[in-house]
Amino acid sequence: MHKLIKMSCKQKRELDKMDMLELQGYSGRVRELLERENINIGDEIEIISNGRRYRGILMARYELADPNYITLKLPNGYNIGIRVTENTTVSKISVGVRPTFVRPPKPQTLSDLPNVVIISTGGTIASRVEYRTGAVRPALDAEDLLAIVPELAEIAKIDTEVLYNVWSENIQVQHWIGMAEAIDRSIRKGVDGVVLTHGTDTMGYTAAALSFALQKPPIPIVLVGAQRSSDRPSSDATTNLIAAVATAAKAPFGEVVVAMHKWHSDDVIALHKGTRVVKLHTSSRDAFRSVNSRPIAYYQHGELKVVVNNLNPRGSNEYVFKPKFDTRAFLIKFFPSMKPDILNILADAGIKGFIIEGTGLGHVSSDWVPVIRGLTKRGIFVGMTSQCKFGKVNMNVYDSGRDLLKAGVIPLDDMLSEVALVKLMWTLGNLGEGAELEEIKNLMLKNIAGEIYSRSLPNVGL
Ligand code: ASP
Repeated sequence: MHKLIKMSCKQKRELDKMDMLELQGYSGRVRELLERENINIGDEIEIISNGRRYRGILMARYELADPNYITLKLPNGYNIGIRVTENTTVSKISVGVRPTFVRPPKPQTLSDLPNVVIISTGGTIASRVEYRTGAVRPALDAEDLLAIVPELAEIAKIDTEVLYNVWSENIQVQHWIGMAEAIDRSIRKGVDGVVLTHGTDTMGYTAAALSFALQKPPIPIVLVGAQRSSDRPSSDATTNLIAAVATAAKAPFGEVVVAMHKWHSDDVIALHKGTRVVKLHTSSRDAFRSVNSRPIAYYQHGELKVVVNNLNPRGSNEYVFKPKFDTRAFLIKFFPSMKPDILNILADAGIKGFIIEGTGLGHVSSDWVPVIRGLTKRGIFVGMTSQCKFGKVNMNVYDSGRDLLKAGVIPLDDMLSEVALVKLMWTLGNLGEGAELEEIKNLMLKNIAGEIYSRSLPNVGL
């Protein structure tokens, strides 16, 4: 299934051709006006409209936008839309130069270095600003990344594989399976480490999915992303990637981890355990944090410092490959005055298990209790996590929690809600059709990859 979404060479050529489309997004009389003046995307133009004069670069537009506007990039870098009326005049000042990406030659690698494969799936780390829309789009594959960051060739002998080229909001369960299979192939080939470049938005979910699909791997599997694309001066792509490759090449552990900036500056990259990590900030470079646990290692000034014990060692022979997932799992965030009817509607539509993200120690309003009791009687799993992120659920403290326990809710201790959802998909997928509720409960409560019962380390908090 995942092969359907893998980008073929032909599709890539088509995308490149789209970059060359003229007057992309302009239609009707605005397009005629631009054509009459022999203006193209990227040209410097002047617009006089409503007595005001604007100068800037003509940008492409989204096809579905209002056709009566011209999009201009101003010298300060901002884009504005200018409405074209009967009295608007447009003239060309100079012809724009189309920026092109030319891949530098691949650096020479030294033969006695560890073997690392970089598998690219898309995201900002593999993107550049798209000339057509002024937006960022995935456009660099793992080969390009290697050519752009020649330092990598001093750390490892690198092989590259382009698996997907998508934003991570488009990642689905079949992509997780495709990634797990690609990584498993690399493990079986005997590589020393795997780096997976990925969009940051759903990297936490993928890290959890891979932690369950590839248990106790014999090598490090390092997911890496970037909050800013590599053509921006503030990009974190290079530093994150170097740390990811160094970790894959040298780390003494066989774990699924995420490599991202520890804080705003470039000097420290944190390695977070795949079942403990969340994206907590929309744009900051240190968006990723470990929750109820600390990062397991830091990469600083070319050195990897492991700060947590009891990790699965590199070379461990307990590796288990279980890449099955069932999407009939649902994550629900409770909010004040939310009615429980939705649970029955979803169950009737085939949902086999729910993760409820409750309030505080793990609560929902009392009108949910009979509905939940009905679900668990039907053999549907209902697990509880907390909206608090930090800490663990404890449903024995208040009567509302005890009522839920009696109704069959399973408290999921300190498991992150997103991780619990992924684990439920994995549990349903692996137990298969007709699994007993008891089996689902047992597997959900068993610690598979450090996702539950982490017992916070000192100094771990908000
Ligand atoms: N939306 C992008 C993605 O997740 C953002 C990123 O890569 O950082 O693919």
